[in-house]
Amino acid sequence: MKSITVLGSTGSIGVSTLDIISHHRDEFSVFALTCHNKIEKLLEQCQQFQPKHVVIVDEQAAQKFREQMAGHKINCEVHVGAQALVTVAEQCEVDYVMAAIVGAAGLLPSLAAAKAGKRVLLANKEALVITGELFMNAIKQSGAELLPIDSEHNALYQSLPFKPFGQSLSEMGVNRLILTASGGPFRTFTADQLVGVTPEQAVAHPNWKMGQKISVDSATMMNKGLEVIEAHWLFNAPIQQIDVMIHPQSVIHSMVEYTDGSVIAELGMPDMRTPIAYALAWPKRIPSGVKQLNLLEIGKLEFYPVDFKQFPCMKLCYEALAMGGTATVTLNAANEIAVEAFLQKRINFIQIAQIVETSLEKVTIQPANDLEIILAVDAETRLITQKAIAAL
Ligand code: NAD
Ligand code: MG
Repeated sequence: MKSITVLGSTGSIGVSTLDIISHHRDEFSVFALTCHNKIEKLLEQCQQFQPKHVVIVDEQAAQKFREQMAGHKINCEVHVGAQALVTVAEQCEVDYVMAAIVGAAGLLPSLAAAKAGKRVLLANKEALVITGELFMNAIKQSGAELLPIDSEHNALYQSLPFKPFGQSLSEMGVNRLILTASGGPFRTFTADQLVGVTPEQAVAHPNWKMGQKISVDSATMMNKGLEVIEAHWLFNAPIQQIDVMIHPQSVIHSMVEYTDGSVIAELGMPDMRTPIAYALAWPKRIPSGVKQLNLLEIGKLEFYPVDFKQFPCMKLCYEALAMGGTATVTLNAANEIAVEAFLQKRINFIQIAQIVETSLEKVTIQPANDLEIILAVDAETRLITQKAIAAL
C-alpha cells in the first residue's frame, strides 16, 4: 500500500490521478489533497478518498471548507496557506507525491518532495524550468524516484534505456530527442489571424483537456518551449539534441532517435491517465481506464516543422535556455503574468510573446544555483512585467 499526496488535486491532472486511484484502492491510500480555492471539488474528493490532511491555500476558502466538512462526513486536518503544501509533500508517512500544481506556485512543494526522497510524479514542468539544476541535484542526493508525467517526457522516459537520469545521451547511443507537438488550436493560423484570437478560442485545445494556463501555453506553443527546457534538465540533453515536430494527431507522444538509425516512440490515445498510471505503477503496468489506440481508425499520422515566426514563444525558450542562469526563471515568470493578463483580456494574444521578450531583455541574468536568488529574480520579473502591461 503506497501513501500519496496529490498536490493540486482539484485540477485536470489531480482529477485524472484520483480517477486512477479510485480503481486501485487496495494499492494506494490518499494522505493529503491540496487546492488553491476550489473547495466544492475538494469536498467531493475528500468524501470519496478520506485523506488525513487537506491544504487550502486561500484563507476564505479554507474557512468555508471547515464549515461544510462535517455535513459532508469528512474528518481530516485542514491546513491553510502555501507553507503547508511543503509539509504534506515532505512528511515521512508519504511515499508518492503527485506534483500537479500549476506554475511557480508548485515549485517549493515539488522541490520538498524531491529533497525528501519521495517518488515524485512530476507534472509541474515549471519547477524544472525555474530550478532545473537544483531540482535534479535534489533528486540525486536524496535518492528520490522521478517519474515524468508530461506526456512527451513520459514517452521519452519509456523510450530511453532503463533509468536514464544522469547518464549522457551519447553514451546511451542517443542521437536526438524528438518532442511532438499538436500545434494547438491555432496551428493553421497566419501571424495576422493570431492578433484577434480570444481566450475562449485559445483554451479550446483540439486534442487534450487541460487547465487554462497550460491551454494558453499550448496555443502560443510556449508549452512546447517549456518542455524543451524540461527535457534538457530531465535527460541531461544538450539543446542541439532536442528537436520539436508538429504532429496534429497527438498519437506519437515523443520519440528517441538512436545512432544506429532506430527510432523508439511511445504511442497512445491523448489521455493523461496513461502517463499518470505509468508513473504510479512503475516499473509495473496497471489499467488506466484509457481507450486502446486504434491506428486503423486514425488512419493517418502527419508531421510538420515548427515555424518560429508563427510561434515566437518557442524561439524565446530556446534562447533563454542558451542564455543560461536565471533567464528561464524570467521567461517563466513573465509568461505566467502575460497569460493571466491575456485571460483577463488586458492584452492580446501576440502581446504574450512581446511581453516575455521585453522582460527577458530587462531583467539581469544571475547564476541559477541558489534558491534565494531564483526566488528574487522570479519576484522582480513579475513586478517588471506587471508594470510593462499596465503601461501598454
Ligand atoms: P489546473 O489549472 O487544471 O489545476 C491546477 C491545480 O493547482 C489546481 O488544483 C489548483 O487548485 C492548484 N493551484 C493553482 N494555483 C495554486 C496556488 N497558487 N497555490 C496552490 N495551488 C494552486 O492545471 P493542470 O492542467 O492540472 O496542470 C497542472 C500542472 O501539470 C501544470 O504545471 C501543467 O503544465 C502540467 N501538465 C498538465 C497537463 C494536462 O493535461 N492538464 C499535461 C502535462 C503537464
Ligand atoms: Mg506535454
